[in-house]
Amino acid sequence: MSSQSPNPKPQVQPCRYKTGKVLGAGSYSVVKECVHIDTGRYYAAKVINKRLMAGREHMVRNEIAVLKRVSMGHQNILTLVDYFETMNNLYLVTDLALGGELFDRICRKGSYYESDAAELIRSTLSAVAYLHDHGIVHRDLKPENLLFRTPEDNADLLIADFGLSRIMDEEQFHVLTTTCGTPGYMAPEIFKKTGHGKPVDVWAIGVITYFLLCGYTPFDRDTNLEEMQAILAADYKFEPADYWQDVSNNARDFIRKCLTIDPTKRLTAHQALQHPFLSEDKEETQADLLPVVKKNFNARRTLHAAIDTIRAINKLREGGVMDGALSIAPETQKDTPAPQNETNTGLWRKPTGGLMKQ
Ligand code: ADP
Ligand code: MG
Repeated sequence: MSSQSPNPKPQVQPCRYKTGKVLGAGSYSVVKECVHIDTGRYYAAKVINKRLMAGREHMVRNEIAVLKRVSMGHQNILTLVDYFETMNNLYLVTDLALGGELFDRICRKGSYYESDAAELIRSTLSAVAYLHDHGIVHRDLKPENLLFRTPEDNADLLIADFGLSRIMDEEQFHVLTTTCGTPGYMAPEIFKKTGHGKPVDVWAIGVITYFLLCGYTPFDRDTNLEEMQAILAADYKFEPADYWQDVSNNARDFIRKCLTIDPTKRLTAHQALQHPFLSEDKEETQADLLPVVKKNFNARRTLHAAIDTIRAINKLREGGVMDGALSIAPETQKDTPAPQNETNTGLWRKPTGGLMKQ
């Protein structure tokens, strides 16, 4: 970025990416496959609608700056390759994770042992410890945000969602009160509004671990309110006993120490990495957890698919998110109100905040 003046004239540049099929949708974004026009290399582009952030785009830009620094530093964190924006959307270009979401992959396996779950948790936790060491709290750890880099068996598990959720906290509460979305992975102190620090990620790791061992989440209740009350009281059990009979005491102890209500007494990411559940050697012969996990997961999947559909429809209604990615932003200052539609002329504008890859 050559000019540091407060209101540099936005530059219009030919777009270097072409977007393709939708890879997935999250709470605030749609992720599409994209190809770099010059190199022919494939990436994933996360398209975030600025309107959903109403004036807090600068926070996202700051966050991206931080994430850009850490994104190449750990093998279990997806690399942020590029960033740009149009009038309506922010685009985060990352490596394409071709191995699919964590749980889909587990369900496709022939067998699945506690040690497999431990290995997945170890990778995730080591990335979380790295983020925490760099002062970043992810705040939205859940299986849908964990992707495999490639379809191969030994592929790296990646934290794919760049933790932008912390900017969206208010939205999350909105989402909660409108009974959309699930609070299932949120820590008690989030509801109490007493803190959003690093311990929330370890809580989420506890929930993910529970889920990976039985196929359902510990605080799953009929309504979000009941779910929230269960979380506040850490009201969960390793039940029905049938589903937990093959799960070790080490695994249960690990979950208990992650699902500790008081965040100051909860394990830190580094302490959790030292827990015997995650240590390499497993003496006892383990049972195949796949039949139970798959059965329980599929029973709930139908419900979640319905929720996802409603979310996608709402997103379409809000408009903008699903529009063409290769848009031109008119040469206006960033505070100028956005026009209702972006025109698709295959050009894009560098962000005035200046985060472009050099
Ligand atoms: P959000 O912050 O809105 O939840 P995510 O980054 O989690 O967005 O992406 C939503 C979904 O898109 C993911 O659950 C995943 O299925 C898919 N996805 C995200 N990033 C990639 C990627 N790099 N490669 C392939 N699929 C991806
Ligand atoms: Mg996500």
